[in-house]
Amino acid sequence: MTILNSTRELQITDAAHHLHPFTNTRELNARGVRVITTGKGVYLHDSEGNKILDGMSGLWCVNVGHGRKDIVDAVAKQLEELTFYNTFFNTTHPPVVALSKLLSEVTPKQFNYFHFTGSGSESNDTIFRLARYYWQLMDKPEKTIFISRRGGYHGSTVASASLGGFGSMHEQGGLPIPGIFHAPPPSWWANGGDLTPDEFGLKVANQTLELIDSIGAHKIAAMIGEPIMGAGGVIIPPKTYWPAVAKGLKERDILFISDEVICGFGRTGEWFGCELMGTEPDFMTMAKGITSGYVPMGCVGVSDRIANVLLEKGGEFAHGYTYSGHPAACAAAIANLEIIRSEKLVDRVRDDIGPYLQSKWKALADHPMVGEAVMEGLIGAFQFTPDKNARSNFADEAKIGLTARDFSFENGLVMRAVGDRMVIAPPLTITHAEVDDLMEKTIKVIDLTYAHVR
Ligand code: PLP
Repeated sequence: MTILNSTRELQITDAAHHLHPFTNTRELNARGVRVITTGKGVYLHDSEGNKILDGMSGLWCVNVGHGRKDIVDAVAKQLEELTFYNTFFNTTHPPVVALSKLLSEVTPKQFNYFHFTGSGSESNDTIFRLARYYWQLMDKPEKTIFISRRGGYHGSTVASASLGGFGSMHEQGGLPIPGIFHAPPPSWWANGGDLTPDEFGLKVANQTLELIDSIGAHKIAAMIGEPIMGAGGVIIPPKTYWPAVAKGLKERDILFISDEVICGFGRTGEWFGCELMGTEPDFMTMAKGITSGYVPMGCVGVSDRIANVLLEKGGEFAHGYTYSGHPAACAAAIANLEIIRSEKLVDRVRDDIGPYLQSKWKALADHPMVGEAVMEGLIGAFQFTPDKNARSNFADEAKIGLTARDFSFENGLVMRAVGDRMVIAPPLTITHAEVDDLMEKTIKVIDLTYAHVR
């Protein structure tokens, strides 16, 4: 194997052979891709020796921070003991049993059954089939339609990308597949007008229920939503929104799927985002924080209400992935969950480091170019605006968000841009001193972007 050493060699070879996800690979030739080489705690290093604070926990996943030896050792030990065996056809293995039990302890009380996958996307595709199968078993096979939301992200496979509400994804490959309707998102800053957030939350909840009634609840299998929309720009819904939606779904006998791929495993200051929002889902989608990204894994939480029907009325569920419950992924998940429990990371996010970062982050809204700055637990965003009173937007061509993202990288901080909304979700292990570092860098990015537009 050729060993490529210099950054330039890596960049040229990468551009020649690597078709990246969510990247214009052609542009990479000119620009040069950033090469990340190592990670420890909340910091990354690139091939040029720069130290970068990972404000996005990788891709919203490295909840316990990079390079935790306990997880690395647990994976290595498991690979030596049993590298692989599947969980099909009446077989199991100790790590998948242990993980299933552990998950039943940390998830909301209605969850006692878990189906394992390789990713969040696969988990949502699994739920798509499971929810329809459930209604078939309930003698209501006409309940097939799914409700999701514009701006929601649920993955990149055919069903999960269709559930997602991104036009840019639907344009490529003829999505969405039939039977999916997208309700409006609860984005108060963008769409709330003169309403208070609470009034707006109720308005969007009612619009969602009106959409459902116009289709006919008897045809609808389930609604899916992220407690807090992540990839859509960290849209923290008004407090009134989820309880009103969840109540309407229950009244109409429609299943509720909480997509916890980002919000799960402590991100919001509760184990799961649905607990913060006060909803009681029938399914939960999990991935990312389940292993803190050390090894790929996804998981579907199946509530007792669904599981009992599947077990009593269903036969063999004709579905599964080779890597459903991969032993190494299970070992990583167990070690990761043990860290979250023993270091009390959920309490820490709720009571200590979360409020510490939130108070500083929310103060960013005092800047003349920042419209709103929001954060729940350790997931937040701020919005660039040319006029905060009018809540107006910069022209797309100005590419303010992408400019700020570049300033951020250059100044040693990973922030993500969703349009002109800057997004952050650092590891749950971030220290107070590291929060100070993150804030210093963020303020610098805002000042540089402000100077850039003036
Ligand atoms: N659901 C949500 C809320 C996500 O944010 C993501 C990924 O970002 C997914 C599902 C898809 O997960 P994966 O990329 O593991 O397929």
